[in-house]
Amino acid sequence: MTKTTRDGPAKMGSRTRLVHAGRAPFENHGFINTPIYRGSTVLYPNTEELYLRRVKYTYGTHGTPTTDSLESAWTELCGAAGTVLSPSGLAAISVALLSVAKAGGHLLVTDSAYRPTRNLSNTILKRLGVDTTYYDPTVGAGISELIRPNTFAVVVEAPGSQSFEMQDIPAIAAAAHARDVCVIMDNTWATPLFFPPHERGVDIAIEAGTKYLSGHSDLLLGLVSANEKYWPRLKETQDAMANCAGPEDVFLALRGLRTMELRLREAERQGLAMAQWLARRPEVSRVLHPALPDYPGHDIWKRDFLGSSGLFSIVLKPASREKVAALLDSLELFGLGYSWGGFESLVIPFDCSSYRTATKWAPEGPALRFSIGLENIEDLQADLDRGFTAMKSVS
Ligand SMILES: *Cc1c(COP(=O)(O)O)cnc(C)c1O
Repeated sequence: MTKTTRDGPAKMGSRTRLVHAGRAPFENHGFINTPIYRGSTVLYPNTEELYLRRVKYTYGTHGTPTTDSLESAWTELCGAAGTVLSPSGLAAISVALLSVAKAGGHLLVTDSAYRPTRNLSNTILKRLGVDTTYYDPTVGAGISELIRPNTFAVVVEAPGSQSFEMQDIPAIAAAAHARDVCVIMDNTWATPLFFPPHERGVDIAIEAGTKYLSGHSDLLLGLVSANEKYWPRLKETQDAMANCAGPEDVFLALRGLRTMELRLREAERQGLAMAQWLARRPEVSRVLHPALPDYPGHDIWKRDFLGSSGLFSIVLKPASREKVAALLDSLELFGLGYSWGGFESLVIPFDCSSYRTATKWAPEGPALRFSIGLENIEDLQADLDRGFTAMKSVS
């Protein structure tokens, strides 16, 4: 939980920073990567050191050189005051919310939030006496009218989970800060490389490192970064809860960090190519991808984001459940599964209509979410072509 960078050249380009951030080879006998430090107990050299706790590391839950490496690298990448690590993206959301939640307080959450974020608000936070209002993600500066004297935070997520609505985060942040309300963002889609959260007015940003930071679908990890104002209470909450991440996962995430920009830029390129290809298909009604020029909210994306990732959705023209199943079951390269941001392509059908409360999700046909991986694009297109043919053969 270090606050400052160790040897990261902060003013250089993002790829240089990703290569250098958070490393301290000469604290590790010259080895390039910080090793996996495993441990609960840390020994103190003598009683005086134990009483004064002057040593850098005191106990496993409070950090190790491995966790320090990733935290300091992430802090630098986000332009934050500090970062804490959690065992999953959802655990990161809970730490972020619990660091600002107040009994009797009011929370504003975008209706397009990651569904488990709603579950957290509707269960634990509710039990603690927090009242949550879901708001239309496109509200912009109009969020002012929803802020009450007891509102403690606004949760934003752009683009929206599954449905990809864009949000005017600078406008929401300006309105929130005018009333001393904290802005919490789930920044998993863009990562700090494509949306520098704190520069854009976000106070606390969470990232599911499970996705693009890992990049290999083989670990669970969450990161929470905060600006100067909110860092002390985030750190206090993390220390009180000890919601800490395991050292192997942190090591793998550090390894992923070095190539994250290369993978993300490739995901962007492949994702856009697939989105454009799907937009031309007769079976597809709409493509929900913020980087497409005619997409609602594209102007906001262009103004505030530095890129797009490989995750987007489509709405098909009206089709039966059986037709959609025939499409999905005939795919050989696309896996059917949750999560995303790995090297492999995935697709899932989704329907937000049963739980949205501030907006209506009623698309004209079935909706699918794609995570485009690193396969050859022609092979992915041939796979989907096969799917559309199978779909047609079902009456
Ligand atoms: C996956 C995801 C999370 C949660 O990450 P886990 O590590 O799976 O708990 C949070 N937010 C968004 C937007 C996600 O897609």
